[in-house]
Amino acid sequence: MKTKLRLALLNLSTIVILVFLFISQSAGQNTDFLTLSKESRHFTFYSTSEDIDILDSLAAILEKNYARITDHLGIQIDKRIQVKVFPNINAFHAAIGYSNAPEWMVGTCIDDELMMVSPRNPGSMHTYESLMQVVVHEFVHIAVYYAIGDKAVTRLPKWLSEGYAQYEAGQINDHIRKSVKSGFSEKDPPSWSQLDSASYIEFGNMNGYGLSVTIVEFLIGSYGFEKMSLLIREPENIETIFGLSKETLENQWIWHFKHEKIK
Ligand SMILES: [Zn+2]
Repeated sequence: MKTKLRLALLNLSTIVILVFLFISQSAGQNTDFLTLSKESRHFTFYSTSEDIDILDSLAAILEKNYARITDHLGIQIDKRIQVKVFPNINAFHAAIGYSNAPEWMVGTCIDDELMMVSPRNPGSMHTYESLMQVVVHEFVHIAVYYAIGDKAVTRLPKWLSEGYAQYEAGQINDHIRKSVKSGFSEKDPPSWSQLDSASYIEFGNMNGYGLSVTIVEFLIGSYGFEKMSLLIREPENIETIFGLSKETLENQWIWHFKHEKIK
Protein backbone atom coordinates (compact mmCIF):
# COMPACT_ATOMS: atom_id res chain seq x y z
CA MET A 1 0.00 0.00 0.00
CA LYS A 2 2.88 2.35 0.79
CA THR A 3 4.52 1.91 -2.62
CA LYS A 4 1.25 2.54 -4.41
CA LEU A 5 0.62 5.62 -2.34
CA ARG A 6 4.15 6.82 -2.99
CA LEU A 7 3.68 6.60 -6.76
CA ALA A 8 0.36 8.38 -6.56
CA LEU A 9 1.96 11.17 -4.59
CA LEU A 10 4.22 12.10 -7.48
CA ASN A 11 1.35 14.16 -8.89
CA LEU A 12 1.30 16.45 -5.90
CA SER A 13 3.38 19.44 -4.90
CA THR A 14 7.02 19.04 -3.93
CA ILE A 15 6.38 19.84 -0.31
CA VAL A 16 3.73 17.20 0.09
CA ILE A 17 5.96 14.68 -1.64
CA LEU A 18 8.82 15.57 0.65
CA VAL A 19 6.75 15.27 3.77
CA PHE A 20 5.14 11.96 2.88
CA LEU A 21 8.12 10.28 1.25
CA PHE A 22 10.41 11.12 4.10
CA ILE A 23 7.89 9.72 6.50
CA SER A 24 7.71 6.48 4.54
CA GLN A 25 11.46 6.12 4.34
CA SER A 26 12.48 7.28 7.75
CA ALA A 27 9.62 6.32 10.03
CA GLY A 28 11.34 3.12 11.19
CA GLN A 29 14.62 4.63 12.22
CA ASN A 30 13.30 7.86 13.68
CA THR A 31 10.52 6.48 15.81
CA ASP A 32 12.45 3.71 17.55
CA PHE A 33 12.57 5.70 20.78
CA LEU A 34 8.76 5.52 21.01
CA THR A 35 7.52 2.36 22.66
CA LEU A 36 4.15 0.66 22.68
CA SER A 37 2.49 2.31 25.66
CA LYS A 38 -1.26 1.78 25.39
CA GLU A 39 -3.98 -0.02 23.47
CA SER A 40 -7.59 1.04 23.23
CA ARG A 41 -10.38 -0.66 21.29
CA HIS A 42 -9.44 0.80 17.90
CA PHE A 43 -5.96 2.30 18.44
CA THR A 44 -2.44 1.44 19.62
CA PHE A 45 -0.30 4.23 21.05
CA TYR A 46 3.47 4.65 20.92
CA SER A 47 5.14 7.31 23.05
CA THR A 48 8.00 8.13 25.39
CA SER A 49 7.52 7.36 29.10
CA GLU A 50 6.88 11.09 29.77
CA ASP A 51 3.79 11.07 27.57
CA ILE A 52 2.11 7.94 28.93
CA ASP A 53 -0.12 10.07 31.14
CA ILE A 54 -1.79 11.86 28.24
CA LEU A 55 -2.53 8.70 26.23
CA ASP A 56 -5.77 8.07 28.16
CA SER A 57 -7.07 11.47 27.03
CA LEU A 58 -6.00 10.88 23.42
CA ALA A 59 -7.61 7.43 23.43
CA ALA A 60 -10.82 8.81 24.95
CA ILE A 61 -11.26 11.54 22.33
CA LEU A 62 -10.43 9.20 19.44
CA GLU A 63 -12.81 6.49 20.65
CA LYS A 64 -15.55 9.09 21.29
CA ASN A 65 -15.36 10.25 17.66
CA TYR A 66 -14.60 6.88 16.03
CA ALA A 67 -18.10 5.54 15.39
CA ARG A 68 -19.49 8.82 14.06
CA ILE A 69 -16.64 9.29 11.57
CA THR A 70 -16.62 5.69 10.31
CA ASP A 71 -20.43 5.77 10.05
CA HIS A 72 -20.37 9.01 8.08
CA LEU A 73 -17.93 7.44 5.63
CA GLY A 74 -19.72 4.07 5.62
CA ILE A 75 -16.57 2.11 6.48
CA GLN A 76 -15.33 -0.52 8.89
CA ILE A 77 -11.64 -0.63 9.75
CA ASP A 78 -10.53 -4.15 10.57
CA LYS A 79 -7.35 -3.30 12.49
CA ARG A 80 -6.11 -0.96 15.17
CA ILE A 81 -4.72 2.36 13.96
CA GLN A 82 -1.21 3.19 15.19
CA VAL A 83 -0.80 6.56 16.90
CA LYS A 84 2.76 7.81 17.43
CA VAL A 85 3.10 10.65 19.91
CA PHE A 86 6.35 12.65 19.67
CA PRO A 87 7.59 14.42 22.80
CA ASN A 88 7.98 17.84 21.13
CA ILE A 89 7.80 19.69 17.81
CA ASN A 90 11.49 19.23 16.98
CA ALA A 91 11.29 15.46 17.44
CA PHE A 92 8.16 15.33 15.30
CA HIS A 93 9.62 17.44 12.50
CA ALA A 94 12.82 15.36 12.57
CA ALA A 95 10.79 12.15 12.35
CA ILE A 96 8.91 13.38 9.29
CA GLY A 97 12.27 14.38 7.75
CA TYR A 98 11.32 18.02 7.61
CA SER A 99 13.25 19.89 10.27
CA ASN A 100 12.38 23.36 8.90
CA ALA A 101 8.64 22.71 8.98
CA PRO A 102 6.49 25.58 10.29
CA GLU A 103 5.35 25.46 13.93
CA TRP A 104 1.73 24.88 12.94
CA MET A 105 2.63 21.51 11.42
CA VAL A 106 1.92 19.27 14.42
CA GLY A 107 0.28 16.16 12.99
CA THR A 108 0.29 14.00 9.89
CA CYS A 109 -0.53 10.52 8.67
CA ILE A 110 0.89 8.05 6.25
CA ASP A 111 -1.44 5.29 5.10
CA ASP A 112 -3.05 4.20 8.38
CA GLU A 113 -0.44 5.47 10.80
CA LEU A 114 -1.03 8.70 12.70
CA MET A 115 1.88 10.84 13.92
CA MET A 116 1.60 13.91 16.13
CA VAL A 117 3.24 16.20 18.64
CA SER A 118 2.44 15.55 22.28
CA PRO A 119 -0.29 17.83 23.67
CA ARG A 120 2.10 18.30 26.62
CA ASN A 121 4.44 20.31 24.36
CA PRO A 122 2.18 21.95 21.77
CA GLY A 123 4.63 24.70 20.70
CA SER A 124 3.77 28.34 20.05
CA MET A 125 0.92 27.92 17.55
CA HIS A 126 -1.09 25.21 19.29
CA THR A 127 -2.44 24.36 22.75
CA TYR A 128 -3.21 21.16 24.65
CA GLU A 129 -6.85 21.53 23.56
CA SER A 130 -6.08 22.16 19.90
CA LEU A 131 -3.81 19.09 19.81
CA MET A 132 -6.77 17.07 21.11
CA GLN A 133 -8.61 18.20 17.96
CA VAL A 134 -5.59 17.59 15.74
CA VAL A 135 -5.56 13.89 16.68
CA VAL A 136 -9.19 13.56 15.52
CA HIS A 137 -8.40 15.59 12.38
CA GLU A 138 -5.60 13.19 11.43
CA PHE A 139 -7.83 10.19 12.11
CA VAL A 140 -10.40 11.64 9.68
CA HIS A 141 -7.70 11.69 6.97
CA ILE A 142 -6.97 8.02 7.71
CA ALA A 143 -10.68 7.12 7.64
CA VAL A 144 -11.09 8.91 4.29
CA TYR A 145 -8.11 6.94 3.02
CA TYR A 146 -9.88 3.71 4.06
CA ALA A 147 -13.05 4.92 2.32
CA ILE A 148 -11.60 5.89 -1.06
CA GLY A 149 -8.02 4.58 -1.13
CA ASP A 150 -5.41 6.34 -3.26
CA LYS A 151 -8.09 8.71 -4.51
CA ALA A 152 -7.70 10.49 -1.15
CA VAL A 153 -4.26 11.55 -2.34
CA THR A 154 -4.70 11.84 -6.10
CA ARG A 155 -8.24 13.19 -6.55
CA LEU A 156 -9.59 14.78 -3.40
CA PRO A 157 -9.20 18.58 -3.61
CA LYS A 158 -7.14 20.01 -0.76
CA TRP A 159 -10.00 22.23 0.41
CA LEU A 160 -12.31 19.21 0.64
CA SER A 161 -9.78 16.94 2.35
CA GLU A 162 -8.71 19.58 4.89
CA GLY A 163 -12.15 21.15 5.27
CA TYR A 164 -13.81 17.82 6.01
CA ALA A 165 -11.10 16.74 8.48
CA GLN A 166 -11.50 20.01 10.37
CA TYR A 167 -15.29 19.86 10.27
CA GLU A 168 -15.38 16.36 11.78
CA ALA A 169 -12.74 17.32 14.36
CA GLY A 170 -14.82 20.30 15.51
CA GLN A 171 -12.16 22.77 14.34
CA ILE A 172 -14.68 25.45 13.36
CA ASN A 173 -15.71 28.35 15.54
CA ASP A 174 -16.77 32.00 15.29
CA HIS A 175 -13.19 33.16 15.44
CA ILE A 176 -12.47 31.23 12.21
CA ARG A 177 -15.74 32.35 10.60
CA LYS A 178 -14.89 35.97 11.43
CA SER A 179 -11.35 35.67 10.01
CA VAL A 180 -12.82 34.34 6.77
CA LYS A 181 -15.55 36.96 6.63
CA SER A 182 -13.17 39.86 7.26
CA GLY A 183 -10.84 38.49 4.54
CA PHE A 184 -13.80 38.66 2.11
CA SER A 185 -14.31 42.36 2.78
CA GLU A 186 -10.68 43.13 1.91
CA LYS A 187 -10.42 41.17 -1.34
CA ASP A 188 -11.93 38.23 -3.19
CA PRO A 189 -10.98 34.92 -1.57
CA PRO A 190 -8.83 32.45 -3.51
CA SER A 191 -10.87 30.20 -5.79
CA TRP A 192 -11.39 26.57 -4.79
CA SER A 193 -9.01 25.61 -7.62
CA GLN A 194 -6.36 27.97 -6.25
CA LEU A 195 -6.73 26.42 -2.81
CA ASP A 196 -6.32 23.00 -4.36
CA SER A 197 -3.18 23.80 -6.31
CA ALA A 198 -1.38 25.60 -3.47
CA SER A 199 1.43 23.80 -1.66
CA TYR A 200 0.68 22.95 1.97
CA ILE A 201 2.79 25.87 3.15
CA GLU A 202 1.05 28.30 0.77
CA PHE A 203 -2.29 26.79 1.77
CA GLY A 204 -1.56 27.48 5.45
CA ASN A 205 -0.36 31.00 4.70
CA MET A 206 -3.45 31.93 2.65
CA ASN A 207 -5.77 30.90 5.55
CA GLY A 208 -6.56 27.79 3.50
CA TYR A 209 -7.55 25.79 6.58
CA GLY A 210 -10.01 28.45 7.75
CA LEU A 211 -11.44 28.94 4.26
CA SER A 212 -11.79 25.20 3.64
CA VAL A 213 -13.71 24.37 6.78
CA THR A 214 -16.16 27.18 6.03
CA ILE A 215 -16.69 25.76 2.52
CA VAL A 216 -17.47 22.32 3.96
CA GLU A 217 -19.70 23.81 6.66
CA PHE A 218 -21.55 25.84 4.03
CA LEU A 219 -22.08 22.81 1.74
CA ILE A 220 -23.29 20.59 4.60
CA GLY A 221 -25.52 23.35 6.03
CA SER A 222 -27.09 24.14 2.67
CA TYR A 223 -27.26 20.74 0.98
CA GLY A 224 -27.02 18.13 3.75
CA PHE A 225 -24.53 15.54 4.87
CA GLU A 226 -25.48 12.91 2.31
CA LYS A 227 -24.22 15.06 -0.56
CA MET A 228 -20.98 15.68 1.35
CA SER A 229 -20.43 11.91 1.76
CA LEU A 230 -21.06 11.48 -1.96
CA LEU A 231 -18.69 14.32 -2.79
CA ILE A 232 -15.87 12.73 -0.81
CA ARG A 233 -16.36 9.50 -2.74
CA GLU A 234 -16.72 11.20 -6.12
CA PRO A 235 -15.13 14.66 -5.98
CA GLU A 236 -14.95 14.70 -9.79
CA ASN A 237 -18.77 14.67 -9.91
CA ILE A 238 -19.35 17.81 -7.86
CA GLU A 239 -21.62 19.39 -10.49
CA THR A 240 -23.81 16.28 -10.83
CA ILE A 241 -24.04 15.78 -7.06
CA PHE A 242 -25.16 19.36 -6.34
CA GLY A 243 -26.93 19.98 -9.65
CA LEU A 244 -25.00 23.26 -9.93
CA SER A 245 -21.75 24.39 -11.50
CA LYS A 246 -18.70 24.65 -9.27
CA GLU A 247 -18.62 28.37 -9.98
CA THR A 248 -22.21 28.79 -8.76
CA LEU A 249 -21.37 26.89 -5.56
CA GLU A 250 -18.32 29.09 -5.00
CA ASN A 251 -20.40 32.24 -5.50
CA GLN A 252 -23.06 30.92 -3.09
CA TRP A 253 -20.39 30.30 -0.47
CA ILE A 254 -19.05 33.86 -0.83
CA TRP A 255 -22.55 35.35 -0.77
CA HIS A 256 -23.41 33.31 2.32
CA PHE A 257 -20.38 34.59 4.20
CA LYS A 258 -20.84 38.18 3.17
CA HIS A 259 -24.41 38.11 4.50
CA GLU A 260 -24.14 35.79 7.48
CA LYS A 261 -24.25 37.45 10.87
CA ILE A 262 -21.45 36.19 13.10
CA LYS A 263 -21.58 37.13 16.75
ZN1 LIG B 1 -5.16 17.81 7.55
